[in-house]
Amino acid sequence: MPEDALMSEEDDARVPDVRALLARAMDAIDDWEAGWADYDPHPSLGVAPERLDAAMGAYLDRLTADPEGQAPGNYPFFHPRYAGQMLKPPHPVATAAYAAAQRINPNNHALDGGPPTGQMEQEVIGDLAAMLGLPSEALGHLTGGGTVANLEALWVARELAAPRQKIAVSEAAHYTHSRMAGVLGVETLALPTDDAGRMDLGALEDALADGAVGTVVATPGTTGRGAVDPLSEIVPLCRRYGARLHADAAYGGFFALLSGEDAVAPEGFPKAPFRALAACDSVAIDPHKHGLQPYGCGAVLFRDPDVGRFYQHDSPYTYFTSDALHLGEISLECSRAGAAAGALWLTLRCLPLEARDGLGPVLGACLRAARRWATRIEASGALRLLSAPETDILCFFPEPRAATLSAVDRASRRVFDRLMASDDDPVFLSLYRVSAETLRAHFPDLEADQEEAAVLRSVLMKPEHENEVERLHGRVAEACRAVRS
Ligand SMILES: *Cc1c(COP(=O)(O)O)cnc(C)c1O
Repeated sequence: MPEDALMSEEDDARVPDVRALLARAMDAIDDWEAGWADYDPHPSLGVAPERLDAAMGAYLDRLTADPEGQAPGNYPFFHPRYAGQMLKPPHPVATAAYAAAQRINPNNHALDGGPPTGQMEQEVIGDLAAMLGLPSEALGHLTGGGTVANLEALWVARELAAPRQKIAVSEAAHYTHSRMAGVLGVETLALPTDDAGRMDLGALEDALADGAVGTVVATPGTTGRGAVDPLSEIVPLCRRYGARLHADAAYGGFFALLSGEDAVAPEGFPKAPFRALAACDSVAIDPHKHGLQPYGCGAVLFRDPDVGRFYQHDSPYTYFTSDALHLGEISLECSRAGAAAGALWLTLRCLPLEARDGLGPVLGACLRAARRWATRIEASGALRLLSAPETDILCFFPEPRAATLSAVDRASRRVFDRLMASDDDPVFLSLYRVSAETLRAHFPDLEADQEEAAVLRSVLMKPEHENEVERLHGRVAEACRAVRS
């Protein structure tokens, strides 16, 4: 086993069985409930056995139906053959922790909505701050997801910036930024990207020099191509022009684990932008993406805890520190699942935020998977790689029959459909639309007979992908040849 594939400090580590964990969790909650003395559940909550059986059967049938059937079911997000969107099930420990806390159903809007999960939330925010290199007094909390985390960061930015100062985002930033800027009544300025999909620094400097921009949103790990905005160069630019800097690390934030000087990261992984997260004013990160959590778990962190004053409603506090964090007072949302904090807490106790233990090796495997596949694609005559992957997302397209964008588009769609429709060995990818300009920058031989073309996109966010890319590549290359002939 190569040194960088270290899985755990302990030799006997294995993937835990979710049923055993659930059973232990349910037993513990049963015992806890029993300790509060017997009572009779109200008959109004009863369900007749036949109705229950039929409804449960229908429910489970729908969840597990054929994805391509009449009433479409779920795609196999858990399986390495699913390499399409940012979707995978939580780790078994997160599932068990969530189920246990959910039976109690604490509400993390306030510490007394459930003190244990409230405290766990403070602890995991501390863990995330440490991973990102933010100071220990950084203020933060969990959110429903990245969109709300970004909204809160942009809202605080608006409160701090002079009126009408624009928010600069790159064209490749998540689409929800402009939507949320609309909610906030702030204008966004879309900056062009370079050929690799990263924010263009020259355009950023021009915009900052103009004086209209108050806040810059950088994305280390874009949702489309996994491109990493050059944060280490954006930080000094924002300082020079006095702009606030928010990092939308909803997808990419956990890659910070592999950005340490001595962390083993594969070739082409840009460490410097992830190290620069430490210098951002705020960071959004989604544990429900690369943190092995079920949906409903984003986070926002602020370098300066004093921004807590903007959240003040009837709170007597004028200065906030993480010690004095009263969750509901520093969050736009009110009710939030304490179970989400519990699940993340247990996960990080089992799989800590370290480069060589816990989550680091999970992320490392995903990065290696993308590089391994990129190498195979480049060596293959059947496919073309759009650009070298920076994180674990890659875009590519079948070698088209004619050197035109319309042929690229058609071939990509046909391969996508064909792979998904296979009965015995399907592969699930996604489609991503690329502008003629970007495609031609990489492939000048392609004629721009339309404005954009769909290419194939794959998110290799499961560590199992590392050992499955040969198979995935084989299947995709085979489909490309079949579509061509
Ligand atoms: C997923 C994502 C978001 C949106 O987060 P949700 O958790 O889906 O609300 C925002 N920005 C980036 C870069 C993302 O990848």
